Amino acid sequence: MSQQGYVAAPPYSQAQPGMGGYQAGFGSGPTQPLYGHYGGPPQTFSTQPTGMMKSPVSSAAGMPPPPVSSQYNPNIQQNGTHPQRYPSSPAAAAAAYGPPPMSQYNSTASPGPPAAQQLSNQMNAMNLSSHGPMQGQALPTSPVTHQPYQMSAPPAIGQPRMPPGPQPSSPQMAPLQSPTANMGGMIRPFSGPPPPGAGGFQQPGLGSGGPGFQQLGPEGAGQGFQQPSLTGGVPGFQQPGLGVAGPPGYPQQPGQFGGHMAGPQPGMPGAFPGGQSAMAGPPQKKLDPESIPSITQIIEEDKVARGGHVYSTNIRGQVPPLVTTDFTVQDQGNASPRFIRCTTYSLPCTADLAKQCQVPMACIIKPLASVPKDETPLYLVNHGETGPIRCNRCKAYMCPYMQFVDGGRRFQCAFCNCVNEVPVFFFQHLDHMGRRVDFYERPELSLGSCEFVATLDYCKNNKPPNPPAYIFMIDVSYTNIKSGLVKLICEELKSLLEKLPREDGAENSVIKVGFVTYNKVLHFYNVKSALAQPQMMVVSDTAEMFVPLLDGFLVNYNESKAVIYNLLDQIPDMFADTSESETVFAPVIQAGVEAFKAAECSGKLFIFQSSMPTAEAPGKLKNRDDKKLVNTEKEKLLFQPQKAVYEQLSKDCVAQGCSVDLFLFPSQYVDLATMADVPSHTGGSVHKYSNFQVETDGEHFLRDLRKEVQKSIGFDAIMRVRTSTGFRATDFFGAIHMNNTTDIEMAALDCDQALTVEFKHDDTLSEETGAFIQCALLYTNISGQRRLRIHNLSLNCSTQLSELYKNCETDSLINFFAKSAYRAILNQPLKNVREILVNQTAHMLACYRKNCASPSAASQLVLPNSMKVFPVYMNSLMKTAPLVGSTELATDDRAYHRLSVMAMGVEDTQLLLYPRLIPLHNMDMNSEALPAPVRCSEESLADQGMFLLENGHAMFLWLGQASSPELIQNVFNVPSLAHLQANVCSLPELDNQLSKKIRSTISDLLEERPNSMKLVIVRQKDKPEILFRQFLVEDKGLHGGASYMDFLCYVYREIRQLLT
Ligand SMILES: [Zn+2]
Repeated sequence: MSQQGYVAAPPYSQAQPGMGGYQAGFGSGPTQPLYGHYGGPPQTFSTQPTGMMKSPVSSAAGMPPPPVSSQYNPNIQQNGTHPQRYPSSPAAAAAAYGPPPMSQYNSTASPGPPAAQQLSNQMNAMNLSSHGPMQGQALPTSPVTHQPYQMSAPPAIGQPRMPPGPQPSSPQMAPLQSPTANMGGMIRPFSGPPPPGAGGFQQPGLGSGGPGFQQLGPEGAGQGFQQPSLTGGVPGFQQPGLGVAGPPGYPQQPGQFGGHMAGPQPGMPGAFPGGQSAMAGPPQKKLDPESIPSITQIIEEDKVARGGHVYSTNIRGQVPPLVTTDFTVQDQGNASPRFIRCTTYSLPCTADLAKQCQVPMACIIKPLASVPKDETPLYLVNHGETGPIRCNRCKAYMCPYMQFVDGGRRFQCAFCNCVNEVPVFFFQHLDHMGRRVDFYERPELSLGSCEFVATLDYCKNNKPPNPPAYIFMIDVSYTNIKSGLVKLICEELKSLLEKLPREDGAENSVIKVGFVTYNKVLHFYNVKSALAQPQMMVVSDTAEMFVPLLDGFLVNYNESKAVIYNLLDQIPDMFADTSESETVFAPVIQAGVEAFKAAECSGKLFIFQSSMPTAEAPGKLKNRDDKKLVNTEKEKLLFQPQKAVYEQLSKDCVAQGCSVDLFLFPSQYVDLATMADVPSHTGGSVHKYSNFQVETDGEHFLRDLRKEVQKSIGFDAIMRVRTSTGFRATDFFGAIHMNNTTDIEMAALDCDQALTVEFKHDDTLSEETGAFIQCALLYTNISGQRRLRIHNLSLNCSTQLSELYKNCETDSLINFFAKSAYRAILNQPLKNVREILVNQTAHMLACYRKNCASPSAASQLVLPNSMKVFPVYMNSLMKTAPLVGSTELATDDRAYHRLSVMAMGVEDTQLLLYPRLIPLHNMDMNSEALPAPVRCSEESLADQGMFLLENGHAMFLWLGQASSPELIQNVFNVPSLAHLQANVCSLPELDNQLSKKIRSTISDLLEERPNSMKLVIVRQKDKPEILFRQFLVEDKGLHGGASYMDFLCYVYREIRQLLT
């Protein structure tokens, strides 16, 4: 394909389903209530706030010292199996921990890789008359402090420049580059004259500041950028100072978004007068797609540079290795990136700067993340009845950022600056550095993360909680009986219940279990250990749900094992002849809540449902699927749940600490948006197995069930994110519920679930002090103990935008954008949401180019090093089912995809948006390591090849049509591809190296990921291959959406428009 072709060809000049939004572009404002922020008010309910995190009455100063001294050992045990391994010798520890604490938090930015990757035009195309004087174009507020890496030879004067050649950060990848496109990523996408087709993108009015680009002054901006969540919907979100004196939120609306960049800029008079003509040049040679920034390359580079290393968290604002890199974390005062990751580790000092660059300030918190075996588990601190030390004013918990003064008698809070008395029992002298001499003996003084035993003040009704319970609720209607699902579940439970989660070292799990079956009515089972046979009690009044038995319903598995076995054997037979096809759903959840209420415990419901609940009962649903709504203003209705009953049910669940895991086995539309509403507000998960068949889907489902049952989890959780002065948490995304603007409530939270938190300025941040975040999670653990888990993170602040860009994390950014866009589509037309995503992408990159990049030709696309591959992820996000707007996609699938992302951590969104494509046909059998993944593009495939593709939710084994018979024989035990049966979903166990290696690779992946995946085997050119192709995210979308190359060209063009 010629270069000309890339520029001239649609997709952008035609109305394309996926990219239709582009047309409106910057030119016109949206017709809908503005995005404002992606998305309408957060999904909160409006009951009155409930209190949380009551301040412990006993923590007041002047308490008599408790029996234990300030010695740390007697009070502390490790969460894991090695109690009291915490370094006890301050001297030794000091040596290990390096510099003294205050200097640890100095703003020592890690030496980063080169700042910019430049995609440059061919030299001849860079023949510009006016691209030089860039120095004078930087905004006064953000002088260029960092010279990006120059790969081309721009005629800049007086700018230090690295010699041309392979970038040091990517030595191992350099050979992969085409000769013409040396590693810097020089490509020459745009040098032909603007093609006729591109006319659609000409944006009249840009230069003259058209209506869509009105530049809003600070006052105007205060209004224009006000977010709906701040002004309406949720009054509680109104932040004093935000709309009035303080800076506004960020512009995210298409119409206003361009305001800062469009039109004549004071700082950039006639920046690139060459304008369009600069693009004139000779026809292009063939463009090498390999030369545009590659995610697989970035991932491999980071693995080489940082893989296997120890990552010490002793530096403020340090950017961690990528989520795809294996590394070991040593907590030295900041939370591990396994717990918290940020979109940027250097916050802009002012709201104006934040607004200027439009890079969101957010963090993704996974409070209960699993810690690998080679890392120290969190320390558990027990202060007895006094509980943890907190700031009297803001209630922040003691952490490494608190500063002790006055000889150690007082401490200044890092979050609100209040000076507090140190309780007598906690007093300790300071050393000559001003540090407490017990610094290394107290985890809360020296570690970024630790856990406290919560006192009764932190428990419901001041009573210690009861152990949690799991209730298994099986739909025994005709479909589930006939498919064999009920039998499958009952068989599996017999062995699975042996593996209920338990605390390290405990012999048995304390979690109680209960059983319900249902169709139109509910059957409860008494499985008390004293019984010889289980007893069934039927409740047919589903309108007033109650639990007909208390004693014997929730039992200890080990005590009642015989009765439970008996029950699980009987259930499939009891309903074998059923003809009942109608089911209820809301009453099933209600029954679970009532059971937990009666038992005064929290817990989880595992519901196995096959169909839409159509029986006469609360929460009855009807088919409201309507493909005609796709690509209309009303498309959002497809994603919105039916409220009423389910909204109330969510509230009841959260209040009781009842989490709902839903396993759906639909054969048609079930209104998933509504059925998944309760799970998605209660920290639950939804799993969907369309047209379930035991033979092909059984194992896949069972793997999911096992993961969900065995997962490490916390219940009845409430979380608060505190920040130092100058900024605050304003928006929250996750499987959560919020009664007010600050307390995040979760019926449960497991080790894979994450919350994304957005921050906004409410004042100026200081470069010197930096910014602090403290996440406090109060929860009941699996053994029924109330715990407080604290994560602390310190960030840098800078007046230089270049610092912000240098310290961005693309994987976190895309997590934030995915969640905010997916929430936005509940309230806005998809077209608007897509537009905003593209516009914001262009804006972020244009702002970098304008303020941070060194002078270079206008025809170059200059990307910050940290965001080199951001456009790939963004383009992939816009092609996902929820955002693509295609009638070919099932409404339930789109809703399912949307909801499944909302509680994902950074690892999961990264993988989802850029699947791993691993070539298996020429593996090195002597190497333990897997072959490096290749780009997710058809170009990577080979006719003789075999590739494994996985994204955390789907897994494919793709076989090229010219695969060698030997390969096929070794893996499938058939002589050729033609002999391969359709519908094969597992590999035979063969005794050869290749077979073993592929099978172990697959089983490792299935083990590693939070969800199970169904292995689908596809042959090149077979019909099912189309399923596989949609995961090749660098290619054009099957249901609409641009290829990566086209998207990059489009973004490039937008950036140029913004800079003109
Ligand atoms: Zn405070």
